This record gives sequence, C-alpha cells and structure tokens, in this order.
Amino acid sequence: MNAQRIDSNRLRRALFLDVAPHAEGRWTVTGGAEPHLVTRARTGSVRCDCLDALYRPQVRCKHNLAVALSRGERHVLTGLRELLGEAQ
Ligand SMILES: [Zn+2]
Repeated sequence: MNAQRIDSNRLRRALFLDVAPHAEGRWTVTGGAEPHLVTRARTGSVRCDCLDALYRPQVRCKHNLAVALSRGERHVLTGLRELLGEAQ
C-alpha cells in the first residue's frame, strides 16, 4: 500500500499544510491554493482529489503526505529525517 514514492519537495510542502480529520478515513487538507479531500480505502490505499495525484499516481502528493505526517506514519517520518539530514 505504500509503493508510492516519497518526493522530498512534496514532503517539504506538506509540512506547511493543515489536516482536519472529518470522518473515519477522510481528511480535508488546507493551506494550499484550495482544500483537498484525502480518503483511505478499506484496502489501505490512500487517494487525494488533487491534479498531482491524478497525473502522477506513482508519487504521493503533498496532501497525502500531510495526512501521513499527521498520523505519524513511520516511513514518512523517516523521509522527514532524511530531509532534515538526520538519517541514521
Ligand atoms: Zn493531493
């Protein structure tokens, strides 16, 4: 379910977004040009309604990453450490 690549530029931008959970498996992400809806399917796959997610499905969009950060997803936090130059 996490086969999508984590792009450092998108991760950097994700840090400046706000995440509001509003139902099980549904989040509204704001702070960019317009709000976006991120949803998690029962299978665990996460989708966003933005154009980046539509056209580049192989990379997790910044909204997807913002949700992952808010949930403390381990591998995204690892990506954050690498971004900060503190990888061990
Ligand atoms: Zn998105």
